Amino acid sequence: MSDFPYDTARETMVREQIVTRGMAHPGVAAAMRYVQRHLFVPQAERERAYVDAPVPIGHGQTISQPYIVALMTELVRPQSSDRVLEVGTGSGYQTAVLARLVAHVYTIELEGTLGRRAEEVLREQKYDNVTVRIGDGYAGWPEQAPFDIIVVTAAPEHVPQPLIDQLRRGGRLILPVGPRFSVQQLQLIEKDAAGEITIRNVSPVMFVPLRRPS
Ligand code: SAH
Repeated sequence: MSDFPYDTARETMVREQIVTRGMAHPGVAAAMRYVQRHLFVPQAERERAYVDAPVPIGHGQTISQPYIVALMTELVRPQSSDRVLEVGTGSGYQTAVLARLVAHVYTIELEGTLGRRAEEVLREQKYDNVTVRIGDGYAGWPEQAPFDIIVVTAAPEHVPQPLIDQLRRGGRLILPVGPRFSVQQLQLIEKDAAGEITIRNVSPVMFVPLRRPS
């Protein structure tokens, strides 16, 4: 069903914020054309769902800027057979984009209200290949490891060792690393067939901090 004016806004978002900035992965652009971003933001923010910026989703958290979602998704090179771990479900939007591209997304959110809301929106929108858990994503999800891809959308001060350990050989981990409420470095970490790790600094970014439960 057409959902004017959101459909038009979404098409413009993909064209002006994603494609013109050189995003080359056709699957990522197609996924972002498909996922109804406005349904993942709170009602009061719906008008702003397709702007070129992060948007508040409650509890002091934000849904990432569309371009950052596209960049992170493209850099981990999603394949249809991949099993993915996401840390920081938030609104569930990045989860939905990944779910369009891979076999299954396991996603962890620390804040129960946000995680349950995201789970409900994902279920209503028929993203059936997603499992949501409420908990601390710093420890990863050992029962489902190893993962082909790990996407972290909150910034730890250091790379969590459990996430490196839970990455499959040949796997890709993308995360912001750095100080709280300051500029962090978006890092792409790859584990090769021999288990060796390489780290590439992609760009400066600003994410909410990865919190540890007390
Ligand atoms: N990917 C999200 C962006 C969420 S912002 C989206 O598309 O909307 C980052 C999220 O990480 C917040 O919801 C925050 O509550 C969550 N978070 C912070 N620390 C966490 C932790 N240790 N484990 C899991 N989630 C965490």
